[in-house]
Amino acid sequence: MGSIDQSALPYIQTNPKIIFFTDFDGTITLKDSNDFLIENLGYGVEKRKARNEDVLTGKSSFRDAFREMLDSVKPGFAECIQVLKDNMKLDPYFTEFYNWAKEHNVPIVVVSSGMVPIISGLFEVLLGHKPDPKHLTIVANEVESRDGKDINTPGGWQIKYHDESHFGHDKSLEIKPYAALPADKRPTLLYAGDGVSDLSAAAETDLLFAKKGHDLIRFCEREGMPFTVFEDWSSILATTKDIYEGKVSVKSVAEAGLENAQ
Ligand SMILES: [Mg+2]
Repeated sequence: MGSIDQSALPYIQTNPKIIFFTDFDGTITLKDSNDFLIENLGYGVEKRKARNEDVLTGKSSFRDAFREMLDSVKPGFAECIQVLKDNMKLDPYFTEFYNWAKEHNVPIVVVSSGMVPIISGLFEVLLGHKPDPKHLTIVANEVESRDGKDINTPGGWQIKYHDESHFGHDKSLEIKPYAALPADKRPTLLYAGDGVSDLSAAAETDLLFAKKGHDLIRFCEREGMPFTVFEDWSSILATTKDIYEGKVSVKSVAEAGLENAQ
């Protein structure tokens, strides 16, 4: 079977039927935590939107624009995390999904363009406990000192990208080894997301749950990507349960999804 060492793939160690990959900001949380930092503690909404536009029109890479936006956020890192803990909210049904997935041996893998310490800090407060690392894994960028300063002093931190890709974190890297597994070893791979950075990752999976009212849906239609629309995690949970119990196939969900969207 070539180069994949199956014994080294962490999310299939317990032989799950399903692995659930998901975006974090705007998908598990109601608002985007990075946007919140930039708009409230950095250079504000106008400049953020202008730089976003530069990425969309190809004037700037996401990697460079996002670093610049975060560099405008001056408070120390601990203060940033605290402000986010006070302002971010989880999707009201995510905790229920988390508990069901844990009981049914469905690993959750959070793949994010954000930073690991922020995501784990928010989970701890919003779930009410630290996520079980055997059950939920966070794959994202890190944070590091800027110019040798303490990260908790003003201007003391910067984002440390996960890899060399245009996005800073190529979310598809974590999924590809699982997508390449032989059929008898390969769990069903699901993905939930709301942004265009989720597209390449979702393309590796069997079905994308795309958040209602976002651009992602148009892209899916155009690219012929199997998807279904969700409003919150209650519908993700219901559909994942049906797939888990064999009541529906991912194919039938995607066909119905396309029909509903049209
Ligand atoms: Mg998102």
